[in-house]
Amino acid sequence: MGPIGGCLTGRRVILRSDDSDAVLPGQWRHFMAHELTHFLQPGRLPHLPPWLMEGLAEDIASRCEAQTCPEGAFGRWLRAARRRREILPTDRVLGMSYELLSVAFDDWMSPRLSTMVYAFYAQSLILVRHLALTDGDGFRRFLLGFTRPTDVGTWWTTCFKRTSDQVLQEALAGCEAGVNTPVPAPTVGFRLHADGVLLPAVKSRASLSDVRRGALRALGRAGYDYGVEALIEVLADPRDPMREEARYALEDLSGESFGDDEAAWRAHWEASRRVRDAAAPAPAPGPISES
Ligand SMILES: [Zn+2]
Repeated sequence: MGPIGGCLTGRRVILRSDDSDAVLPGQWRHFMAHELTHFLQPGRLPHLPPWLMEGLAEDIASRCEAQTCPEGAFGRWLRAARRRREILPTDRVLGMSYELLSVAFDDWMSPRLSTMVYAFYAQSLILVRHLALTDGDGFRRFLLGFTRPTDVGTWWTTCFKRTSDQVLQEALAGCEAGVNTPVPAPTVGFRLHADGVLLPAVKSRASLSDVRRGALRALGRAGYDYGVEALIEVLADPRDPMREEARYALEDLSGESFGDDEAAWRAHWEASRRVRDAAAPAPAPGPISES
């Protein structure tokens, strides 16, 4: 499927090819661009705090993606994470250390902790983007401050008129603005990927648990309503150890929270598809093997 992460060791970028978390084929481009950005940062801006290192790397990486998530997907994920109280307070984003991140990485199997790590990267990215868009000159000056050791809080107050909390709240609100548009039908490329890789992994109890977990998370973050029946089946089985992952995936996709209520989830997706199809009748999609 693809790499789930990388690390920069001296002059090498290592991308671990794994069956976890690969939302879309070709995602290695994202990770490679992310790690190569880190390769350049220490030379020019050696004192960047982690949120700026990661926010800038994610911004470059998102420009290098072969396929991007559909509109509204990020906002729906954000709303789900906010409802589960997994969005980090601004001071935790700005004060994040790599030691704390590595502790959370050790608990990657927990959907809650892995979402909080993901939230750190996502919130760092939207802070960077929002600052660059709304106050480009201030942001340039701010970045150049990290050629030397700099206290983030003091330097922020010098460069920006708004507090970090105001900027983050504005940016989060902007991302959630489009969440009420219907979840789109999948692209052909995503259907092929889901049919070939993600859905077989979710449906087979014989899959390695990491592979199955990665496929569930990938379906949840892809932003399409493809595979929701398989997610509901996992959720509905009281003996399935991945029920919580399935609930997370359904919440991430929809931005809604119906807990473990299988019937409510089914009714939600039926209604969501009706609204979408009424707005723009989909062309015949060809065979779909989702059952
Ligand atoms: Zn990084």
